[in-house]
Amino acid sequence: AAKRTPLMAGNWKMNLNHQEAVVLVQKLAWTLSDKRHDFGQVEVAIFPPYTDIRSVQTLVDGDRLHVKYGAQNLSNHDEGAYTGEISGAMLAKLGCSYVIVGHSERRENYGETDEWVALKARQALKHGLTPIVCVGEGLHIRQEGEHVRYTTDQVARSLDGLTSEQVAGLVIAYEPIWAIGTGEVATAEDAQEVCAGIRAQVRQAHGEDVASSVRIQYGGSVKASNVAAIMAQPDIDGALVGGASLQVDEFAAICRFY
Ligand code: PEP
Repeated sequence: AAKRTPLMAGNWKMNLNHQEAVVLVQKLAWTLSDKRHDFGQVEVAIFPPYTDIRSVQTLVDGDRLHVKYGAQNLSNHDEGAYTGEISGAMLAKLGCSYVIVGHSERRENYGETDEWVALKARQALKHGLTPIVCVGEGLHIRQEGEHVRYTTDQVARSLDGLTSEQVAGLVIAYEPIWAIGTGEVATAEDAQEVCAGIRAQVRQAHGEDVASSVRIQYGGSVKASNVAAIMAQPDIDGALVGGASLQVDEFAAICRFY
């Protein structure tokens, strides 16, 4: 089986002021820089608000920090009359490695559809950014037992138009909506069930090599206390962390799950 480097990602959402953001990056890099974190074994990425990215770039480049960074969203257009939007080209210029697309908060609050998410994923790839494509079911779908089918359908539509080579290199984040910001965590087995379903869907669409390369994260109330059980699952290759990524010691402990 392919060796997939785990990706631990911190989505700061719309939190912190600029000074707090700068301090958090510095403290995180400093905390992870001791010998207890193996950067070859685990990749760490943070997702600050757009307005902090330039300063994060300066810190990461200037001090050669082993932390990657990205944005929480991007426009599905290249440029033009799209007031308030940020393009993939702009993010690439800021040294972003990743961009989150289709987070459930954007799907729910801003009406982002799978079609839109697929456009954004393509836009990210066009500009050399690795998309983290988010999928996941709401509570009623889970209660009806339709969570695997629902989520794998979302994956198929959200990756529409991407080549197999592109799919092999991207990241899919399985985030059950009922577990985001609620303190409610899917059990490791529940998370594994859906992540295995997602990998099977990718296998069906793109073949074994792509399925064994694509990284699949779990997200939803991940903490230092539950991360090890989640990461022990064979189809889970990382975590997308919201609330806990704002606490430096907690997030550093999550990054050192091994
Ligand atoms: C998220 O927003 O991606 C997330 C998983 O949030 P939390 O960890 O706070 O549940």
